[in-house]
Amino acid sequence: MALPWLNKLLETVFFEPCPLHGDFGVPGECNLYCISCMGDPFCIHCREPHNDHRDQVLQIRKCLHQEVVRVDDIEKHFDISSIQVYKINDQPIVFLNKQEETRRHGRVNCQMCNRYLSNQDSRFCSISCKVNTVSNSSLEHQANEKSIPHSL
Ligand SMILES: [Zn+2]
Ligand SMILES: [Zn+2]
Ligand SMILES: [Zn+2]
Repeated sequence: MALPWLNKLLETVFFEPCPLHGDFGVPGECNLYCISCMGDPFCIHCREPHNDHRDQVLQIRKCLHQEVVRVDDIEKHFDISSIQVYKINDQPIVFLNKQEETRRHGRVNCQMCNRYLSNQDSRFCSISCKVNTVSNSSLEHQANEKSIPHSL
């Protein structure tokens, strides 16, 4: 799945203090990411250059020390079906990356990292697990196609 902005997003370290605004005591953490620019994360005060791509700016939030994004924000850009959705303050969110295993395995587990999922319709615990599974299986698919002898 060729989604360079998503790969970059998953590699990005968020919530670092902004070099320009991190000392003010006000939120100067870099928790915004622009899908269009695919650059470094930035803080709310550094948002102005991205005003033209307002719809492309994702706000990353923190939940249980993990980075999460609101379903409303991400689903316009990425199909999050089969990813476990949680709720923070009544807002549906998904995790960016897999979480530390904190619970024993249940009946439904993430297909990638085996983490327990509370929603039986889910298959992945996080965006990263879904992306990795999708790319692994498409690689396997390509490999299989190559190994089939052409016998016509
Ligand atoms: Zn800033
Ligand atoms: Zn931008
Ligand atoms: Zn997982």
